[in-house]
Amino acid sequence: MFTPKCPSVLLIYTGGTIGMIENPETGALEAFDFDQLQENVPELKRFNYRIASYQFNPPIDSSDMEPSMWAKIVKIIHYNYDYFDGFVILHGTDTMAYTASALSFMLENLSKPIILTGSQLPIGMLRTDGKENLITSIEIAAAKYPDGTAVVPEVCIFFENHLLRGNRTTKINAENFNAFRSFNYPALATAGIHIKYNYERIRKADPSIPMHPHYAFDTNVIILTIFPGIQEKIVNTLLHTPGLRAVILKTYGSGNAPQQSWFIKLLKDATQRGIVIVNISQCQTGMVEMERYETGLHLLDAGVISGYDSTVESVLTKLMFLLGHNLTPKEIRNEMTRPIAGEFTRPGL
Ligand code: ASP
Repeated sequence: MFTPKCPSVLLIYTGGTIGMIENPETGALEAFDFDQLQENVPELKRFNYRIASYQFNPPIDSSDMEPSMWAKIVKIIHYNYDYFDGFVILHGTDTMAYTASALSFMLENLSKPIILTGSQLPIGMLRTDGKENLITSIEIAAAKYPDGTAVVPEVCIFFENHLLRGNRTTKINAENFNAFRSFNYPALATAGIHIKYNYERIRKADPSIPMHPHYAFDTNVIILTIFPGIQEKIVNTLLHTPGLRAVILKTYGSGNAPQQSWFIKLLKDATQRGIVIVNISQCQTGMVEMERYETGLHLLDAGVISGYDSTVESVLTKLMFLLGHNLTPKEIRNEMTRPIAGEFTRPGL
């Protein structure tokens, strides 16, 4: 019997390896349904929690994740927000960092934990990492202070004993259990014998302000990675793509790019046409400092703005989110230079 005060968690199963099983005929991994997931984790019944579940039908490989499905997840969370202490989202690892970043922007004034997790090996396999990830995620999603407020009121990814801020996280390994990293922000918790929370680094929430869900996205964006030998005609074509509204420019080191006049001119023309260009580094650790080298100064002059130490997943989803909210290029540029969900560190803030 559950007491009215017992912790409550909603599991949202979207798909991914965690819920997959091998097709005996083809040998390929295919999704199976959530009841089987519970069969494979009898430990779930040992929690003294109220655990309910919602399943995507059909479950998807996260390579098929789309903004419309982020909206579906947010709708489920919004609809159930007052009835659960926290939410665990089972998700494929491939695009988990994109979903976590998007949700962090879509759930304004979040005061409850949203923990995304998955696994590298299906949960039905003997050596699966899925059980551990799922069980600890549920515990974190239910963790509360004595006054009833959540310990981790953030969108996070829990994987291989580390709780990471979702919009700081990137998938870095296709085969290792330790598949995610937050290069520019410390872990929010580590799970060993005890779950040790990094209290100072966890965002503070104000549960008296209602959570406000957002749904709109505009996906007219591209990621342009520069490289030695990049050609003018290709960059020109990309920057003149009909409908294009924003570019993520992946530059070298601390935000440097070629100084050729054609390149700078194309960028400047684009910003003057209202295209927002955000500079992030191809290096995973460290931040963009365009004032540091002359090459960076040319970019600043062309109207390129800094993405500081953001992940590509976070800049991409934030741009799509802002573009979906009918803001002017100037307003988007302003919003891009201030963190709205702890997604980057801006020196001096
Ligand atoms: N392709 C799978 C997915 O992202 C991989 C995984 O779950 O780890 O859905």
